[in-house]
Amino acid sequence: MNSYNVTKKPIQTLATGRSHSLNVHTITGDTTGPHVYIQASVHGSELQGNLVIRELINYAKTNILKGMITLVPMANPKASENKVSTFTQGRFHPETGDNWNRLYTDVSSQIDFEKIFSKSSHYQELVTLFKSEIKASLNKLYNENSSYGIKSEKILAYHLQDLASSADIVLDLHTGPVACEYLYTRSDHQELASDLGFPFVIQIPHEFDGAMDEASFMPWVVFEKECLKRNIAIDKPFEAYTLELCSEEVIDSKLAALQADRIINFLKLRGLFDGVTQTPCKHTHSASLESFKSYYSPRGGLIEFMKKPSEKVNAGDELYRLYDFSDNSLPFYSIKAENSGFIINHSPSAAVSQGICVYQVLEIKDLKVF
Ligand SMILES: [Zn+2]
Repeated sequence: MNSYNVTKKPIQTLATGRSHSLNVHTITGDTTGPHVYIQASVHGSELQGNLVIRELINYAKTNILKGMITLVPMANPKASENKVSTFTQGRFHPETGDNWNRLYTDVSSQIDFEKIFSKSSHYQELVTLFKSEIKASLNKLYNENSSYGIKSEKILAYHLQDLASSADIVLDLHTGPVACEYLYTRSDHQELASDLGFPFVIQIPHEFDGAMDEASFMPWVVFEKECLKRNIAIDKPFEAYTLELCSEEVIDSKLAALQADRIINFLKLRGLFDGVTQTPCKHTHSASLESFKSYYSPRGGLIEFMKKPSEKVNAGDELYRLYDFSDNSLPFYSIKAENSGFIINHSPSAAVSQGICVYQVLEIKDLKVF
């Protein structure tokens, strides 16, 4: 039967003498298979993924697993504890202002591919060699000047990336502000991503912007190119996704059960569990990152949201009303959709300054329906 372990991983000591640590849950099957790494709440206010992880742990403990799953709920204690009144300010590092999901490191340029490919031409052996090279490069990059200390904002990123470095599949569980379900995938993996059955898919280019999914897949993009150059067939490609599980600051156990079911179905399709698989919903709307448009408030005021996440909009539809209290006539302005598309998320707050992101819309002009 599967073995189940929880280890406490120390992260950061604090001024008070207390410290932050992570609970790392690992479930290992009797037979070999892929290694899946799943974390939730790196943005501290994005809570739903923790309930999904709870469901996944309960399932994996009691069903025959082929391979290994590492799960880290509440992956950023500092961010989740960073409260402003009743709200969680979990997106940005409280001391430096950095976005917590832009602090990872791309190790691609550190890896000596010639050395790896001189040792084997067998794909699975190369994968094993490559993973240990990723881990070694991470250690080197984060620790090369560690005699001078490591910056506060880099400590968590290093530990999480280290945990993910031996994985074949990485799922980073987030939420939007007030949002529907959507996911980010590398642009050439949209077919693979459709196995997760998410209604909206945003394709990101092979560029590094500091996020966990990008930091995870960037070295593999280079690795796969090196394999193809040498006519080595890629057996199972490495996959990394950011899953947005609806809205921040809320949890919903019924929804978490459904979301976990879809992830379990995906893991069955990848060979980690036996059992009947469902055909994932293929009515996914998928588009490039350039089609994911943000509407910024043209002036300060109060917002009345006229469209809900996942709702379809046509060009010219009213997105929101902006009530202006700077003018004694107390006017409101109607902000219309520039193009057709689907509402993905909107600001949680109705009070905005000029330039605040009010809505994000996946525009329909190059939408593909599977
Ligand atoms: Zn997030």
